[in-house]
Amino acid sequence: MINLVLFGPPGAGKGTQALYLAKAYHLVHLSTGDILREEIANDTKIGHMAKDIICRGELVPDSMVIDLIQEKLDNNPDANGFLFDGFPRTVPQAEALDTLLIHYGRNVSAMLSLEVSKEELISRLLNRGTSSGRSDDADRTIIENRIQVYNEKTAPLIKYYKDAGKYESINGIGTVERITERLKKCIDILPRHRKRH
Ligand code: ADP
Repeated sequence: MINLVLFGPPGAGKGTQALYLAKAYHLVHLSTGDILREEIANDTKIGHMAKDIICRGELVPDSMVIDLIQEKLDNNPDANGFLFDGFPRTVPQAEALDTLLIHYGRNVSAMLSLEVSKEELISRLLNRGTSSGRSDDADRTIIENRIQVYNEKTAPLIKYYKDAGKYESINGIGTVERITERLKKCIDILPRHRKRH
């Protein structure tokens, strides 16, 4: 059983790689960005609350994404493992994830961190903005804000997972296939049943 946190700044390629990895390792893919966009598309109460925050490139409240993740864990009791994409994004979210997983007799096996330079990120996101229809990808100011939010609130998670001995750094520059290979190489040598402590 493996539970992976796919980590990296906006535009690092988490979503793209998550699709391949979830399939290859039979994991349930949980992307909080996708879940929130679905809530917006379905015009739910959560969607209403999240919409403007996402458009500005800010983070939605921790409690909101933690509740959404808890619901998904509840709905998938027999999962082989989970692939978290875009979650956790703050230290309180990481702490909440640890607590939730303990409750289900699981734990985070590793945090796979895709490393990409800022210049490459901005160009990828602007490129994606022209094809994805995501308004938060179309505007350079919003993209820069998301990267700043990442540096302030999300990057501290690197230390959190390093301290837990679970941080794995992966070069996020190259073809999609090359990066998938690097990730798989790393996953294949992870201890499958790392003990909780
Ligand atoms: P990207 O891949 O560009 O990082 P995501 O699709 O993961 O984007 O997320 C889009 C937006 O959804 C974020 O900018 C943020 O506003 C919101 N969001 C997604 N996940 C979280 C989270 N774990 N905590 C708070 N906000 C989140």
